[in-house]
Amino acid sequence: MAVLQIVEFPDPVLRRRARPVRRVDRRTQRLVDDMVDPVRDANGIGLAANQVGVLRRIIVIQMPGGIEPRVYVNPRIVHRQGRRDVLEGCLSVPGYSAIITRSVWVRTSGLDGNSRLVRLHADGLLAQALEHEIDHLNGILYMDHLKSHQELVRDGTEVEEESPAEVAVA
Ligand code: ZN
Repeated sequence: MAVLQIVEFPDPVLRRRARPVRRVDRRTQRLVDDMVDPVRDANGIGLAANQVGVLRRIIVIQMPGGIEPRVYVNPRIVHRQGRRDVLEGCLSVPGYSAIITRSVWVRTSGLDGNSRLVRLHADGLLAQALEHEIDHLNGILYMDHLKSHQELVRDGTEVEEESPAEVAVA
């Protein structure tokens, strides 16, 4: 297994749109296998292929609590609803986090690692992770969602306003 390095901001690959995967083949599966370790090692909840320098529409979601990592190929958000503030970070922007607005729930469609169609209705942390990773596939970083009154905060900084309890890094 290759050890993949997580690409960090401002690497231009993070700003490019990933291409759809035509066929989930051996190469895809090998890439997916190689993406699982870095997200786990970094205590992240997800990783997009752009973040390991590969411009293909593949994401891995690793929810906390010992749940097996899930792979989504060509995932897209077909519906989103509601708005909520979340504390978010990114494995490609280490050392920072910010409160941004995400959807309350999303509906997604995509393939799993065996080319089967998967539709998800997700809320909470899973919805946040899916939005974050699918953004990556479109060259969007979470900081892009900051509004003028919101700011990027360096880890370890005391924040006065009341903020969501835990930062989700993906
Ligand atoms: Zn990220």
